[in-house]
Amino acid sequence: MYQRTAAEHGCKGCNRSPQLSEEKIQRLITIALQGKAPEELAAEEIQQQRFETCMSCPSLQYGTTCKHCGCLVHIRTRLAASSCPSPYGSQWQSEACKEV
Ligand code: SF4
Repeated sequence: MYQRTAAEHGCKGCNRSPQLSEEKIQRLITIALQGKAPEELAAEEIQQQRFETCMSCPSLQYGTTCKHCGCLVHIRTRLAASSCPSPYGSQWQSEACKEV
């Protein structure tokens, strides 16, 4: 008997897949960051370090979403004032992840 994989299961609330296409991710990034002043965005190297940390974090779901806040990490990692919401302590602790 065929069993759906976790990725094929939809959201319990709406039956939509929680997985996002690259196109949808890019559209959401554009919407979320439009109108932001440059100082509201983290420096490129910091964004990259945070993003790499998220990509290897066990709390990342579907390759896009932090299970502690429900945020798309592609956006959260870009905001200067953002922080890692892990209840086990910030995973963005390395110096490279911090704004100065
Ligand atoms: S807990 Fe922190 S490092 Fe992990 S996915 Fe969430 S924001 Fe990223």
